[in-house]
Amino acid sequence: MSQLGHFFGSGISRRDFIKTCVATTAVMGLPFSMAAKVAEAAQAPDRPPVIWLHFQECTGCSESLLRANHPAPATLLLEMISLDYHETLMAGSGHQAEKSLHDSMKANHGKYILIVEGAIPTKENGIYCKVGGKTALESLRKAAEGAAAIISVGTCASYGGIQAAPPNPTGAVGVRDIIKDKPIINIPGCPPSPYNLLSTVLYFLTFKKLPELDQMGRPKFAYGRRIHEHCERRPHFDAGRFAKDYGHETHAQGYCLYKLGCKGPATYANCSVQRFNDAGVWPVSVGHPCIGCTEPDILFRTAIADKVQIHEPTPFDSYAPVDLKDKGKGASPVTTGVLGLAAGAALGAGAMLARKLPDAEQPAEHEQGGDHEHKE
Ligand code: SF4
Repeated sequence: MSQLGHFFGSGISRRDFIKTCVATTAVMGLPFSMAAKVAEAAQAPDRPPVIWLHFQECTGCSESLLRANHPAPATLLLEMISLDYHETLMAGSGHQAEKSLHDSMKANHGKYILIVEGAIPTKENGIYCKVGGKTALESLRKAAEGAAAIISVGTCASYGGIQAAPPNPTGAVGVRDIIKDKPIINIPGCPPSPYNLLSTVLYFLTFKKLPELDQMGRPKFAYGRRIHEHCERRPHFDAGRFAKDYGHETHAQGYCLYKLGCKGPATYANCSVQRFNDAGVWPVSVGHPCIGCTEPDILFRTAIADKVQIHEPTPFDSYAPVDLKDKGKGASPVTTGVLGLAAGAALGAGAMLARKLPDAEQPAEHEQGGDHEHKE
């Protein structure tokens, strides 16, 4: 790590640089021994040109990257790349901005990374979103032509997001619904973790190839597991202890939020591991159910209070089980999984449930656990 001068000059300390590289290495699922290689790639002199387009969105993805209470991920990202066009960040505007976009596309044809934030409206030839006199549809197609790869950052660019929610009046879609001949990486989330974007770019710089993607086009290292598998409230789920309502003592005691609509059992993301704001928090840790923002079939498609179906067994989590006084009534995660698989229904787990549902029937609301447990 001998060429860190330009990072220090940009306000990032050596300690923060190393810490961020180590954190990013961990996000990618690589051993710590790879951190030095990642750091080396981060300070390589060749900075890939990046064009960042905004369409139908709230700019929350950019904001979450830039307004983090700890600026290291954003600083590192912006120092690693040559950000040639970003409407929120660039000083220029009007014709000057348009010129820089076109100059970069021409000079770096076939080499630049295109990052897209926001959905693309398609109805009536895309007239519902225009920038610089061109529709989002035209701008995306033009910019995609010369892109080496495309990163759809956020759920709107990945799947259409809230703009595409029924009745979808503008015909909004995600990038992959329009561009079919380029590698596209989806980094969904509302907003996504800045580390997931940073890790994706760093993976590319380190290994000179794209990370392995799942069937939704998401990097497996960040979206390979359900948040339910590492949630700190999971032992309560396995014990059948559920928060009854917001503000209720069961809520304050950290019981599982499944009955309040938590979509964690069906949501693939690393929020429960990576967390946010360098403060170790994420929505579920502060009492709000997961809204499934990385899943196209859940966010803005399923009411926040509705329960998701649990179709598959979930592996053991990383937290110790809660200490049930009546140990004979405790349920293991395996029991949970088998029940979920057999019933295919929105079951809260628990041994009492296992006993009451020998035929794997959908439980009545009062049977889904929790009521008896919080009296302990
Ligand atoms: S349902 Fe939600 S709150 Fe409960 S364990 Fe799963 S992710 Fe955590």
